[in-house]
Amino acid sequence: ASERLSESFTSTCCYCGVGCGVVVIKEKNGTVAVEGNKDHPVNKGMLCSKGINLQYTVNDKSDRLLYPQMRYNKSMPLQRVSWDEALQRTAAVFKTFIQKYGPESVAFYASGQCLTEEYYVLNKLIKGFIGSNNLDTNSRLCMSSAVAGYKMALGEDSVPICYDDIELADTFYVTGANPAWCHPILWRRVEAHKAANPQVKIIVVDPRVTDTCSIADLHLQLNPGTDVTLNHALGRILIENGDIDLDFIQHHAEGFEKYKELVFGKTVAEAAEICGVREEDMRLAASYIGNAKGFISMWTMGLNQSSVGVNKNLSLLNLNLITGHIGKPGSGPFSLTGQPNAMGGREVGGLSNLLSAHRNLNNPVHREEVQKFWGGGIISEKPGLTATEMFEALNDGRLKAIWILCTNPLTSLPNARLAEKALKKAKFVVVQEISDKPETLQYADVILPAAAWAEKEGTMTNSERRISYLNKVLDPPAEALPDAEIICRFAQHMGYKGFDFANAAAIYQEHVQLTVGTNIDITGLNYEVLKEKGTVQWPYKLGVTGNGTHRLFTDKKFYTPSAKAIIHAAPDEFRSEKPSPDFPLILTTGRIRDQWHTMSKTGKVNKLKKHIGQAFLEIHPLDADVLGIKEEDIVLVSSQRGEVRVKAKLSAAIKQGVVFLPMHWGKILGSDLNRANNVTNDLLDPISKEPDFKYCAVRVEKY
Ligand code: SF4
Repeated sequence: ASERLSESFTSTCCYCGVGCGVVVIKEKNGTVAVEGNKDHPVNKGMLCSKGINLQYTVNDKSDRLLYPQMRYNKSMPLQRVSWDEALQRTAAVFKTFIQKYGPESVAFYASGQCLTEEYYVLNKLIKGFIGSNNLDTNSRLCMSSAVAGYKMALGEDSVPICYDDIELADTFYVTGANPAWCHPILWRRVEAHKAANPQVKIIVVDPRVTDTCSIADLHLQLNPGTDVTLNHALGRILIENGDIDLDFIQHHAEGFEKYKELVFGKTVAEAAEICGVREEDMRLAASYIGNAKGFISMWTMGLNQSSVGVNKNLSLLNLNLITGHIGKPGSGPFSLTGQPNAMGGREVGGLSNLLSAHRNLNNPVHREEVQKFWGGGIISEKPGLTATEMFEALNDGRLKAIWILCTNPLTSLPNARLAEKALKKAKFVVVQEISDKPETLQYADVILPAAAWAEKEGTMTNSERRISYLNKVLDPPAEALPDAEIICRFAQHMGYKGFDFANAAAIYQEHVQLTVGTNIDITGLNYEVLKEKGTVQWPYKLGVTGNGTHRLFTDKKFYTPSAKAIIHAAPDEFRSEKPSPDFPLILTTGRIRDQWHTMSKTGKVNKLKKHIGQAFLEIHPLDADVLGIKEEDIVLVSSQRGEVRVKAKLSAAIKQGVVFLPMHWGKILGSDLNRANNVTNDLLDPISKEPDFKYCAVRVEKY
């Protein structure tokens, strides 16, 4: 055992945004074992089913891409080439498009699973040197509504809370989330807290009865898409009952009067009718919040993945603001990050409308600061294309080349058939990947093999602003390279200066320097500090000691121009696709307990298939009865965009009129009929540009 321990390395689980610490043990035969890190503040040694099986995904190299491949035209087969040949030609093609059609003719589509260093160099490359902002990531499909909500209400994309607030809270409002399955280790803390303190109240808001409801004091099984109505009604009841913090509203917030006028525009009875929940349950929920000493609102994709996602976020943030439950122990809004490093990406400005270290792309002073620092070209003020917009632009020819890394868009994008059509039309596609499975590879003109988790070093930031250093444990197989190195080599082939970093630590140091004087200042950090401390929470300024900033806004000064939080009168609009006689049911999508995203990693682990082994449609027994559908019947789910064919799972846990598909499955054995995104809608929130994954109109029939 001591021999094994001498080769153990700390790291962070590469799945969800909880950010559990792991110890990776390198065995003598080159394989690894993974254990929970008992010294890690997040999980104290615990891991969920996905994390505990991480070693299988690392050890199974059967699907790994091993060397660069390229074809000189679409009719030629891909052939093995050297790194130099692949990158030289890619650079030549990119240069040609940029010269001929401008810098906006090329784009990079990356991932919330990228390390911060990878995001950093990508951002620098496209914004600082190529001269467009066409870098977006799959975080657009995940957290962009929360980002916009935080910026509008608090002045910046800043999660105010820390996990230790859980044990200090006595009321939880969990909405549009199933953390029992999707953020399990964090939820274990809530469960333990509730078990030790039965007076703690848990309100769950979800059209489905999920495992999270098993410890709920109250489940509001609302109609999909009615979150804003519900949150506004709770706001109204809180105001009527005098359960608001007038001192906070008067001295630390603005916008209350307009908000009050708006929420009083509907009676609670009217709101209850729209939401499909009982008025007394709404009043009970408001009384739990009104009596709370510590109130945490917790949410994820049910609020974010919506054509009114920003309004949903704002309406929820308002509940914390009018009650003054922010910036104090046991209180605050708490967005659960879907991906392991979506937050790190946001820190470096790794979305098409963001700039480094929470600077604003539309602020000329901010652009100039970054431009000078990088020493490249002019940073464009025009926001780049977002995730789905990139594929639309490929489809209509505005975008000529796309470089896809660390993500599997043909399974994860809404309206996947449109994305397929777009990739077929693309003039030039680069896919940087670890696995030979993603469907994007069949459209690739260049395939670049990347190092996987544990095969490279870098940092990630979890849902509570906690930055962790991930050790490199193994060498990547064959010719695979770390993603940051691939991007830097490409930048050098493009002829750009400033990408000759000696190592990942040097990239990190450059990112750190760009945070000087910002609200996410981490100038006290470098790899040595991170290795010594284990993890820290930002901000972490030069000269600080301890483990960083646990809680933001403790001085009640927000990052807005007035230093006050803004209570937005978020309009209660409906923008989704309305059900019709042809498509009478509402489809919502989501995750299952043991799979992660598009299964390119978890799908390799047989144990993880035991929980739920195949895609299914969850449908209420009364809806199924009307349609003549029985348990396990094959059903066809159709929308205006496509079809899905899966087995029916009858369950009274879902609201009548609503059906559910898991989002994980893509092409299996040549068939893509398991893919939920054949039918989902690519309608976007107008501000966050996040798609409406949780609401589209479908028809279900027995196949
Ligand atoms: Fe990994 Fe999330 Fe599970 Fe923790 S809760 S082990 S971070 S998947």
